Amino acid sequence: MKPCSIAILGSTGSIGLNALKVVDQHPQRFRVKALSAYNNFQLLESQIKNYKPAHVAVGPQGLAHFKSTGMKGVKFYPIENCAQIASLKEVDTVVLAMRGTSALMPFLEALRAGKTVAPANKEALVIAGDLIMSEARRHKARIIPIDSEQSAIFQCLDGQKLKPVLVHLTASGGPLREVRSKDFKRMRPKDILRHPRWKMGPKITVDSATLMNKGFEVIEAKHLFNLEYNQIKVLVHPEAIIHSMVEFTDGSLLAQLGITDMRLPIQYALTYPERLPTGLKRLDLTQLGSLNFEEPDLKRFPCLGLAFEAARRAGTLPAVLNAADEEVVEKFLHGKIDFLSIYKVVEKVVLRHKIIKNPSLQDILQADHWARQEARNILEKLCH
Ligand code: MG
Repeated sequence: MKPCSIAILGSTGSIGLNALKVVDQHPQRFRVKALSAYNNFQLLESQIKNYKPAHVAVGPQGLAHFKSTGMKGVKFYPIENCAQIASLKEVDTVVLAMRGTSALMPFLEALRAGKTVAPANKEALVIAGDLIMSEARRHKARIIPIDSEQSAIFQCLDGQKLKPVLVHLTASGGPLREVRSKDFKRMRPKDILRHPRWKMGPKITVDSATLMNKGFEVIEAKHLFNLEYNQIKVLVHPEAIIHSMVEFTDGSLLAQLGITDMRLPIQYALTYPERLPTGLKRLDLTQLGSLNFEEPDLKRFPCLGLAFEAARRAGTLPAVLNAADEEVVEKFLHGKIDFLSIYKVVEKVVLRHKIIKNPSLQDILQADHWARQEARNILEKLCH
């Protein structure tokens, strides 16, 4: 079998590192053709030595470094030209593991070039889901999500002839599930960055504390599986063993279960429709004993309600939600605002936005820019 040629955009982050571990597990199956990383060029350098990609995109510091040291057989690109390596002729599958809205252009270009895209990035689908899905249809390009919940839904629906009536998106509940509401105000970044189930970057861990992350996943699922926002239910499931479920009209539920290790959904996306051994420990249900479920508490976690509202009203609103959240969480992580202000500021920006229906890419980027400016204005007053 011809090996699958992959590009990993964001190769030094936690998803990128796990994707490379999947490659290590099946070295005959994969060829790493391209890598990209924004900041951590020392780690990127060791990845280049190990995996020998022919194309590498890197941030300005790294670019200067590699230009001066030089590396044989590697073509370097500035990070802004990441879309170029996502659409290279010799690449079959693009792992989209970079953070933020910078993933949008590489996502679109990869689809236009007919690549299979395995997105772990949320922002692109949240802000421009309609555009992405229509490009995928137009170019018959496949999207196989890596996010554990979206991968679970994808797996439950694979081979199904009928659409589900409901999708149950599971949520671990985040690091504040058992914290009393009256203590929320006192929560500092360090209190939140200890997530009980998943090890992730700081921004997404804060988003999982506010449940905004789950809200983004609602918007993502709506696009990926062509659902109405009211066909998606969030179900808090602290053990995070069921990664999501689909429900059909007869009331049957299909669920996907597994250990909480991102290598599972990453490998599935990279070997689909095949399944291969992972070398990981297997799920032992008798050890687990029981699984628990509860409704999400929208009073304690109003960001989730806000995201549902953005999913319902659509247009440019999800882009505004995403941009405002990014600005505000950044301030929280730097200790400039308290935890409760995250929702307050994001809500203010969302309420002030005049939605553009069926937005173009330009409209979306403008809404993103507007929301960041608006959030900064509000934050400035708040921080002084
Ligand atoms: Mg997730």
